[in-house]
Amino acid sequence: MKIDLSGRVTVVTGGTAGIGLAAVRLFLEAGAAVAFCGRDKDKSADVAEVLRTDYPRAKILAEACDVLDKSNVKAFASAVKTTFGGTDMLVLNAGQARLSTFDDTSDAAWREELELKYFSVLNPAHAFLPQLEMSDTAAIVCSSSLLGRQPEPHLVATSSARAGQLSLVHGMAHELAPKGIRVNSILIGQVASTQWRRRFDALEDKSVTWEIYTKSIADRAGVPLGRIGTPEEAASAIFFLATPMSSFTTGSTVDVSGGLSRHVG
Ligand code: NDP
Repeated sequence: MKIDLSGRVTVVTGGTAGIGLAAVRLFLEAGAAVAFCGRDKDKSADVAEVLRTDYPRAKILAEACDVLDKSNVKAFASAVKTTFGGTDMLVLNAGQARLSTFDDTSDAAWREELELKYFSVLNPAHAFLPQLEMSDTAAIVCSSSLLGRQPEPHLVATSSARAGQLSLVHGMAHELAPKGIRVNSILIGQVASTQWRRRFDALEDKSVTWEIYTKSIADRAGVPLGRIGTPEEAASAIFFLATPMSSFTTGSTVDVSGGLSRHVG
């Protein structure tokens, strides 16, 4: 099934790397105008330059924006409105995980983690809501984590915050449905992106290759499909949930964990 998104506008937070960047590419390939952001201004500009070479006819807006900074996010929303006239699909993807246990997570770290997981959703959702309300195919997709359903002790704050985020997003789905705005999440297990690349680069044992490293992550976690996912695999699920391909789906989650989920349904 091929879907034509020309005339449609997608916004991706955290679109300069990993899963977000893979999603940006999918939307551009389908003909949508795409606005994306990351905090790093130079990285946003560099990524935009590469994308303009790869997709010469595409409509692209790249901004530096920290999703935790309300005024930044408002300015980003206003730039999208001015440049593209509105927003049809909002992908809430910006973020990262925090490796920490109950014992070693400080109060400040708890607050940071909770702020990230809640306000990376709340700030953009509020800022883009007026534009989404004007769209006849409005959708919000959150890049969430299987940790929200299946916590891990070495990611205690992230797991807990993701559980709260899933509840928030579910509540939004119900509240925004009468406005015609669908809200869904993907539940990522482990996807080989910049986060994992950073952890790989920090390894002391430089004899370990990227392939061995990622395979060992999958084996340690017991991923039934025997490997970790690619950014493109997560992006495909985002694409499905953001576009009218899933027009009767809201308040739901799509699992992208290679079978790691132990839940039924
Ligand atoms: P990457 O680290 O590869 O990319 C993260 C992107 O988000 C970058 O563009 C980064 O740019 C941006 N970003 C981070 N913080 C902010 C912020 N406060 N405001 C705006 N942009 C921000 O991450 P992944 O692709 O791996 O992850 C994408 C999402 O999926 C994240 O929310 C992550 O927690 C979630 N996830 C990923 C998993 C995985 O295994 N990869 C597992 C479970 C969930 P910059 O640094 O310039 O701001």
